[in-house]
Amino acid sequence: MAVTFTQDAFEQIKSHSLKERPIEACGILTGPENSRQISAVVTCANVDENPRAAYTIHPKELLQVIDEIDATQGIRLAGFYHSHPFSEASPSNVDRDRAAWDRFIYAIYSIPLDLLKCYLWDDEAKIFHILDVISE
Ligand SMILES: [Zn+2]
Repeated sequence: MAVTFTQDAFEQIKSHSLKERPIEACGILTGPENSRQISAVVTCANVDENPRAAYTIHPKELLQVIDEIDATQGIRLAGFYHSHPFSEASPSNVDRDRAAWDRFIYAIYSIPLDLLKCYLWDDEAKIFHILDVISE
């Protein structure tokens, strides 16, 4: 399975990640309904108590973003992204422990590798399936 990122969405993730370094940047992925495309992102604040090693989107901010997406015709919430300022683009143990959105995309951008990887969370099996990332 593959997920497609527009150049715009990819650049937004990259620039947000560089701006927040040395802490992890995080946000929401959105795209057209009934597609596997990510066309835009919503940047969020990382309110984790250890933001260099993990990320937390404040529940209030998350709800607000979800409301905005729900109010926008034809756009869906596709998943989440966050950056790894010092490590590769693989899920950490914390990322695994906290993953909760079944069948949603979790994208990780590694700053040192300049690499974006995407995973689909399977909440029943409690595993991330790696997805192919296509940029257009
Ligand atoms: Zn992580």
